[in-house]
Formats: sequence, C-alpha cells, structure tokens
Amino acid sequence: MQVSSAGFLESVDQNFRHAMSFLDLPEGLAERIIQCNSTYTVRFGVRLRGRMYSFIGWRSVHSEHCEPVKGGIRYASNADAEEVEALAALMTLKCSLVDVPFGGSKGALKIDPREWTPQELERITRRFTQELNKRGLIGPGVNVPAPDIGTGEREMAWMMDEFRRANPTDVVNARACVTGKPLWKGGIAGRTEATGRGVQFAVQSYLRDTRTQGLDGRRNLKDASVIVQGFGNVGYHAAKFLSEEDGARVTVVAERDGYVVNPDGLPIEALKQHQIRTGSILGFEGARSFAGDMTGIEQRCDVLIPAAMENAVHAENAERINAHLVVEAANGPVTFEADTILRSRGVTILPDLYVNAGGVVVSYFEWVKNLTHIPFGLMERRRRERRNQTIAAALERMTGKEFPADMRDEFLEGGAEIDLVRSGLEDVMRSTWARIADLMEQRPELGDYRTAAYVASIRQVADAYGAIGI
Ligand code: NAD
Repeated sequence: MQVSSAGFLESVDQNFRHAMSFLDLPEGLAERIIQCNSTYTVRFGVRLRGRMYSFIGWRSVHSEHCEPVKGGIRYASNADAEEVEALAALMTLKCSLVDVPFGGSKGALKIDPREWTPQELERITRRFTQELNKRGLIGPGVNVPAPDIGTGEREMAWMMDEFRRANPTDVVNARACVTGKPLWKGGIAGRTEATGRGVQFAVQSYLRDTRTQGLDGRRNLKDASVIVQGFGNVGYHAAKFLSEEDGARVTVVAERDGYVVNPDGLPIEALKQHQIRTGSILGFEGARSFAGDMTGIEQRCDVLIPAAMENAVHAENAERINAHLVVEAANGPVTFEADTILRSRGVTILPDLYVNAGGVVVSYFEWVKNLTHIPFGLMERRRRERRNQTIAAALERMTGKEFPADMRDEFLEGGAEIDLVRSGLEDVMRSTWARIADLMEQRPELGDYRTAAYVASIRQVADAYGAIGI
C-alpha cells in the first residue's frame, strides 16, 4: 500500500494536534505554530538535449520564529508541495528540540536524478538556485538548504557557487548559504556521516538510560539483530557504525528493488561497495537476495531502522512489524495510525525529530564555521597537544612507568575538527535524549517519546513566539 504525501502531511498534523492537547497555549497560538508560513512553487525551463525541459520545485518556510530557516532539498520524482510542507514542519520541531537557532524549511525538485547526466543535473541545479535566489529563498541569513534524498555535497557545491555568482558584491559569508558542502568548498568534517552518526548516538542514549525498557532489558547492541531500510546516506552510515562499533548484527538491508539477508550479520562496507559497483544491493555474495520483495522490514529483529522515506510503516503492515524498537532515521517513516498500532503491540518508537537530528546539528556547526571563517580547533589544537605531552611526561616520571602505548595517541591528540564535531554532536544527542526522557518521567500521561519530543519542542517555539510578541 502506498500512502500519499497528503497522508504524510496529515500524520504530522495529527502528531502536532495530539501534542498540543497536552499544552496550555494561548488561543490562536497553536494554529499559528502548526501552519506553514509560505510555500513557493518554482517553475523553470532548461534547454537540454536540443529542446526545452520544464521543471517544478518547491521551497516551504514553516516558521520564522528563528532565522535563518533551515532544511534540506530533495530531488525525487514523487515530490510534491504537501510533502515539502510536512517536512518543513518537522524541521521547525527538530531544530527547536535540539536547540539549534533555526526556523524550519524544506525544498524539493520533482526530478529523478538517475535520468540525467551530472552535467545536466548541474545546469538544472544552477537554474533552480537562481530561482530560489530571486525570491530570497537562499542566503546565509535567510534560508540555508542542505542535502536530502537524491542530493549530496556535489549539489550543495553547485548551489553555493551559483549563489556567489548571483551575489558578487557580497561574497564574504556566501559559503554559509548552504550546508553539507564538500570539505574543500567550506564544508565540515563529519557532515556526510552526521545523520547516521546521530542515529547511533540516539540508540546509545536510549539504551544507556535505565528508565527505558532497553532492548527487552538489554542495555547494549552486542549481537542484537538490526534491519535497515534504505541503504543511502543515512541507512548506510547508521548500519556501518552500529555494526562495526557497537557489535550489532545487521541481518537485513531493504532497498527499493528488494532485500538481502544474512542472519550472522551483513558486512556493511562490502555491501556498499557491491551497491556502488552494480547499482543494487541484490546479488551480494554471502547473503540471500529477495528481488522485488518489499517485506524486508517485516522480518524478525530487535531493532528496525527505517532510513528511506516517509510512510514506510503504515496501517496495513504495522501488524507485521516484528521488532522491539523502531528507530526513525527517515523523516515520517511511521504514519500516525501505524504508530498507534505499533505501540499497542508493545513496540517502542524513537521519533524522527530526535533520531535524525544529527544532520541539522552538524549543519549548524558548518554554518558557524563558515560565518567565523576559522576551522574548529585551529587556535588551540597544538597548545592542547603540548599540554597533554607534559601531563604524560609528568605521569611517567611520577610512576616510573611508560604511558600505555594503546592510549598514547588518543591522549596526545589535540582535537582535530572531526573529533570536535563528533563530540559536539554526541553532546547534543545525549542532552536532547535526557530532555525527552525527563519530560516523560515528569509527565507520564504523555505516553510515548514522540509526544514528549513534540511537546518539548512546541513549548520552545511557543516561548519564542511569546518573546517576539506574536
Ligand atoms: P538517500 O537518497 O541517500 O538514500 C535513500 C535510500 O532509500 C536510497 O538508497 C533509495 O534507493 C532507498 N529507497 C527509496 N525508496 C525505497 C523503498 N521503497 N524501500 C527501500 N528503500 C528505498 O537519502 P538519505 O539522505 O539517506 O535520506 C533518507 C531519509 O533520511 C529521508 O527520509 C530523509 O529526509 C532523512 N534525512 C536525511 C538527512 C541527511 O542528512 N541526508 C538528514 C535528516 C533526515
């Protein structure tokens, strides 16, 4: 069953309204917060392959209680205005929940990127950027796009370059007009992996918290079975970190053309290389392939990570989901109805606005880096290294023993950008979890983590509206 994007917008709206029922907001404010401020439809033509092609795209600004507004741009043939509005609303809540100073926005271009060459995609992306720029929908202080489905650092580099060309007298901060850029174009170490890394920190935070059920009482992922749906940026990185670092067995990876299974755990890096080489995960040696079968997410597992698109778990398949924990790495992968069914069956859900916030958190670091024009850690790295060397030498002298060789490198390291980014991200994910879990403890009537996350973030948006007098 395919759930429409109107259904997705409806799900977000229902979640919003459910959470609002626990908040005592002044009359009219609830409606003001729910509604999307504006959605621009952009139509433009590009001359390609000897003729004119027309394209349609959208940029929604959900809330400007904080500026600039922030949100990804996706390239997908099934994109539409309702989907973009739902995603923009989620961005407002996500930024508020993790306390990054952005309002929510989102954009899409209705296009299947696989149908175009890189040169053609570049021309289309540059034209799209010109349209956004004309309407004030891109810029370091107004609206800052990032990658999403079908886009990555390549598209962000084109957008940034086009924005600079269009604003030649104001280039000082131009790099901050998009995030998720390549490192050599003003990006930040760790942005590509950030959302998957955030998923890992979210699961760890949940498991470590003894107020939660854990995984049927277990407090770590050692040998736990994990199913990942969507083996793109987010799904691949989440699978990689959870299996290589936390000892989980990724038993199933599901993609748009079927799924692969290995009960002992799939070697994630080798599977990725196979996908890059052949264009599909199917046919991977050392796993059974189920071509055209979309029931991969219904197999038995401890943790299900939908990391592909919205509405993956809906009223029709929710009864067949066989997991203890659903970790929403994608945006809106569980419909409002499915959420109720899963919870009635005792399945715990970690909600999207928390789980996949790692992307926007590291985007925030990148934006700050671009505006300060200095890489993180540059001023203090060597000083910290020297101080650590002095401490190590002092310890060796006092104890008469050598500093353990296996700890030496990490101890002496002064803090490269990637370490600082990872540390900042972990801190945000941990403290945000504490906020959600504390609220659940204080108000058990909220009933589930999604409602607690919505309540926490809406409260903050309402306070911001109050502070600016709306
Ligand atoms: P991506 O394009 O890199 O990967 C998506 C993957 O899902 C692709 O491999 C695609 O083939 C697969 N897919 C599509 N339809 C499928 C289906 N029906 N069944 C199984 N697999 C299917 O996109 P991404 O950046 O990894 O984003 C995935 C999700 O995470 C989206 O919901 C996105 O909004 C969300 N998200 C992404 C980021 C980010 O930083 N990229 C941040 C926050 C949230």
